[in-house]
Amino acid sequence: MDCIFCKIAAGEIPCDRVYEDENVLAFRDIHPQAPVHVLIVPKKHMKNALECDPGTAQAVLHALKEVAKSEGVSESGFRAVTNCGPDGAQSVEHLHFHVLGGAQLSGRMG
Ligand code: 5GP
Ligand code: ZN
Repeated sequence: MDCIFCKIAAGEIPCDRVYEDENVLAFRDIHPQAPVHVLIVPKKHMKNALECDPGTAQAVLHALKEVAKSEGVSESGFRAVTNCGPDGAQSVEHLHFHVLGGAQLSGRMG
């Protein structure tokens, strides 16, 4: 399948990795929108949150906690968001959660 995040998860395309376990990979966004901008990606391909199974959701949440700790935003706070479908402005059709922080974020969500 021609999926950029599958290729990153398989190590075929390099990334700036910040966390990895058997189920998920977390790496820095190539176009950061905050001082901390990490993407958490399940290694298994799924299009978006609508296809996410409970086991994957649990693995992503575990990775989220690890990334927040290692990026130093546990105390200061951060935003975790997943874009879904055209109106959600999802540009890569492989489930990913953005973790944004390291500065005061806008209160606007849309
Ligand atoms: P979306 O718009 O689908 O929610 O987010 C996709 C994100 O993936 C964007 O923030 C974009 O900058 C990032 N991205 C796209 N291609 C690559 C890539 O090859 N490497 C990395 N590290 N990030 C990417
Ligand atoms: Zn994929």
